[in-house]
Amino acid sequence: MKKTTIASVWLESCAGCHMSFLDVDERITTLLESVELTYTPITDIKTIPQVDIGIIEGGLGNEEEVHLAKELRSKCKILIAWGDCAVFGGINCMRNFIPVQDVLRGGYVDTVTTVNPEAILPGQDLPKLLPKALGIDTEVAIDVHVPGCPPDADTILYVFTELLRGNLPKLPPSMMRFD
Ligand code: SF4
Repeated sequence: MKKTTIASVWLESCAGCHMSFLDVDERITTLLESVELTYTPITDIKTIPQVDIGIIEGGLGNEEEVHLAKELRSKCKILIAWGDCAVFGGINCMRNFIPVQDVLRGGYVDTVTTVNPEAILPGQDLPKLLPKALGIDTEVAIDVHVPGCPPDADTILYVFTELLRGNLPKLPPSMMRFD
């Protein structure tokens, strides 16, 4: 039987949503019998192939992340916003009340562990920050929203069981957690 192909990216995020797949414990082995992982943060594949399912962890915070979100959208049949950061921007939005230049100063100059006496900020060698951190549906169409920080094991299993049955998952209210 042909396996369902999956590609995933992490954008503006902490990686916790990808880690949450391990919370499924041994049940993940059954899932993996039916799916094939392609481009993901844990595989060494350099380009995103055409896949059945795309998963985005993390929100949009810079121009490279917008590019990646659009590329994955164009390469998959079903796109999932995975976790609070992807669904509505999540904890990244804490910076939305601060001007971008001050955000950069906070990260590259003012932290007590940083030694940067000339106060050099990133130039064109790093992707340009967006004015605000955003959820991914501000740039790409999403088929399935899975909130949670991160989504829990039962939600993960529910979503993938439905997808592998050919259904578009509709989360029951008990799984619509906004942490
Ligand atoms: Fe991390 Fe939570 Fe964002 Fe997932 S939703 S990437 S666990 S901060």
